[in-house]
Amino acid sequence: MEQPIENYWKLRLADLKTALESNNFEVFTADNCQAACRIVLEDILPQLKPRSISWGGSVTFQVAGGLYDRLKDYPGLEVLDTYDTNISDEQKNELRRQALLTDLFITGTNAVTESGQLVNLDMIGNRIGGLTFGPKWVIILIGRNKLVANLEEAMYRIKNYTAPANAMRLDKKTPCVKTSYCEECKSPGRICNTWTITEKSFPKGRVKVVLINEELGI
Ligand code: SF4
Repeated sequence: MEQPIENYWKLRLADLKTALESNNFEVFTADNCQAACRIVLEDILPQLKPRSISWGGSVTFQVAGGLYDRLKDYPGLEVLDTYDTNISDEQKNELRRQALLTDLFITGTNAVTESGQLVNLDMIGNRIGGLTFGPKWVIILIGRNKLVANLEEAMYRIKNYTAPANAMRLDKKTPCVKTSYCEECKSPGRICNTWTITEKSFPKGRVKVVLINEELGI
């Protein structure tokens, strides 16, 4: 068989799509980042016709086939760019607040279980805030590496891999940056503050998931 690993994940992602759909998520599958970018730009956006857009922190979104840059230039779309490095932290926080009232919000997930639950742990809460309520629609971009068996595995992965690796990425001064393990710190830079488990999309189809057959994000 050619491309056995891609084929393996294609089957696993097909099962995951079924599970997510039974939880009222609208699901798309993409072979790679470029295909995911096309799905968002050519399938989802023309269907939704959002007037405003924003995003929560997501490495997957930042590398997804140039989607971030394409959206910033998308005609007729008001963009609240919370990734803008030319604005102050205060301005960024104000944008994060306003982002919760946009038409469309894009982000990733820390983990997705085989039964179709999205599991996340946030520092600020703007990412899971937008996922939970506010924006009319949400797009979640998910690389195949985020799939875990169940909630227990999701929480283990997030606490013992995602959070320390993200703390390193963000140059935080937390103990996990030195040890690679979660030390349940009381550091002011702690990035682990609020958990969410999104069991279903409400209303049905509000949250759209793009499953990508590549290793993406942390
Ligand atoms: S609680 Fe603190 S030590 Fe543990 S992963 Fe989060 S930031 Fe790191």
